Amino acid sequence: MKTTTLIAAVSMLLPLVQAAVPSHFSDRAKEILAGSAAVQPTEYPLNIVYFLGNDNEPVADCERRLSEIMYYVQQFYAREMTRNGFPNRSFGMQMQENGNVKLHMVRGKHSHREYAYGTGHNKCLEEIREYADAHPGTIGSDHLLVIMPTFHDAEYNDLQPGGVPFYGLGRNCFALDYAHFDLRHLGQNTHEGRLLTKWLGGLAHELGHGLNLPHNEGTVTDMAAMGTPLMGAGNYTLGMKPTYLTLNSARLLDRCQVFAPAGDKTEFYAPCPRPEVQQASLQYTGKELVLTIRCNNTIHVNALVQAPPYAVNQDYEAVAFCATPEDETDASGFRTHRIIIPLSELTARQNTGKGEQGMDVLFTQPNGLRYRWRTTYNWESLKPGDMIPLDTQRDFWLGY
Ligand code: ZN
Repeated sequence: MKTTTLIAAVSMLLPLVQAAVPSHFSDRAKEILAGSAAVQPTEYPLNIVYFLGNDNEPVADCERRLSEIMYYVQQFYAREMTRNGFPNRSFGMQMQENGNVKLHMVRGKHSHREYAYGTGHNKCLEEIREYADAHPGTIGSDHLLVIMPTFHDAEYNDLQPGGVPFYGLGRNCFALDYAHFDLRHLGQNTHEGRLLTKWLGGLAHELGHGLNLPHNEGTVTDMAAMGTPLMGAGNYTLGMKPTYLTLNSARLLDRCQVFAPAGDKTEFYAPCPRPEVQQASLQYTGKELVLTIRCNNTIHVNALVQAPPYAVNQDYEAVAFCATPEDETDASGFRTHRIIIPLSELTARQNTGKGEQGMDVLFTQPNGLRYRWRTTYNWESLKPGDMIPLDTQRDFWLGY
């Protein structure tokens, strides 16, 4: 590529409007956030709760540190949404006048040890619901990020944080805070630098789950070009090594409530019948799998290909592919979507060419509800040209 073309291409990627970075942010954060794109205003914010027991205190300077971190994560999502064709879209946040992110400080009724990893989220979410009822209008959406300070005991401390919930559960997700959770350590090859990638990457990944995202792996080509998908093993790479959002993730976020642009009055997640599949076929051509689906009530059709087992957290290696529409939506709301899966984009990790393989088809409805439908086939019995039998009436399930 000629240099002039390259410059033109790079300048197209630069944000048109730059976001202001608060003056009280650390110099290192200002340096990292310089050139931030202004994110499209959203109709609904992500709610961020800083949750304490009745016997512990916030970690020092948490408002500045977590604000810098949330700006960084919001910018990562915005940059990746832009690259995937959704310019400057990211999750919205409630902001304070000084530019800090609004953290809802919620104090639990019990000792902080009652809100531990594993089951502590139940009591915590119940008490956040009570807080929301007592402060009508302050919790602005269905999506919640809860941050708790690390335990301090024989096992955990600020140099080895943990003990508190750290996972995504439906539209809620949990992350943690500790003294060195600070952008100033970003990308540094020090204990604090590696810790930051682990817990910042972890926050961004669990947040992805809380924003409706399932795990996914990238294609061979995309991973060679862009590194690790955030919703694969990107929690171990963000801030340290190239990390990206797949088009599958970006399309799901396109219909996530807290990504909806200001003025979008969609009644997100309201009950909606499952998509009706009028016609579906899956063919093995010898070089690729070709899935064709004609359905209604669906804005995006994606497919995830993986080896068994299909249990929770066994899906990090599911490679994501996205459909392109083949025609316009007809008068009864049906449209044909086609997904081409080149086998060269899958590896042996997905069992390609041998044994059983599973394909989950994800249907995203305009109001953000997601349905999943699974089909499996065995490579031992597939010959080029074969049509793989599909039973599209069976085993649809809501959400994922
Ligand atoms: Zn995960």
